[in-house]
Amino acid sequence: MNLIPAASLNPFSIYCVGKNYQMHAKEMLLWESEDEPGERKAESLEEPIIFLKPSSSLSFDGTTSIPLFQGKPISQNMHYEAELVVLIGKNANNIPVRDALSFVAGYGVGLDMTLRDVQMEAKKKGEPWLKSKGFRNSSLVSDFVPAEHIISPKSLAFELRLNEKTVQRGEPEKMLFDTASLISYLSYIYGLRAGDILFTGTPEGVGTANRGDKLHAELSLKEKNGTIVLTGLDAAVEQ
Ligand code: MG
Repeated sequence: MNLIPAASLNPFSIYCVGKNYQMHAKEMLLWESEDEPGERKAESLEEPIIFLKPSSSLSFDGTTSIPLFQGKPISQNMHYEAELVVLIGKNANNIPVRDALSFVAGYGVGLDMTLRDVQMEAKKKGEPWLKSKGFRNSSLVSDFVPAEHIISPKSLAFELRLNEKTVQRGEPEKMLFDTASLISYLSYIYGLRAGDILFTGTPEGVGTANRGDKLHAELSLKEKNGTIVLTGLDAAVEQ
């Protein structure tokens, strides 16, 4: 199978989905309610939570790091978030859900690196997430499996290993908004362009990535007798 190389990507936009797996939405409440005693419930959403990363956030050398500003790191807590990533193949405007998957060029796995402390501060102040999500080298993606090989993204699974230990497992069939619904939604509101990338959200198990850590993410096809690895991504944490 010929994969679509990550190095060939040149997206106009990198869309990301927040809280698209129930168990991750729950674990985020722990971070968010640090300063607020009492239990908060995960809200159920009618529309997905969408945010953007600039295309300059793509890492092409397999490294990620916390940026320095005025000689100091801008965060003390960079998190990994492994996600199914969708590459859009054709411009898409006002596309109904039933047709949405025909706009996919390929499926890959990626890391939506996040400065969790910066994000929590922004949430508290009601400020944008850009700094926490869109910093340089915060977006890492594998090569993409051409969509013609994937009957449904619900047949996919992904896994993230941190220094050889599995820390996240995701099954797109458990997404609160599935791939087709997300593409349709984005096509109505923003319009998608050929080459755009969509990070579909992370499952539970997010955590800190420290300098020197090695991350390995894999995208697999679920079959009756196990899984077949389709593509993968290696990343090193620097600084
Ligand atoms: Mg994410």
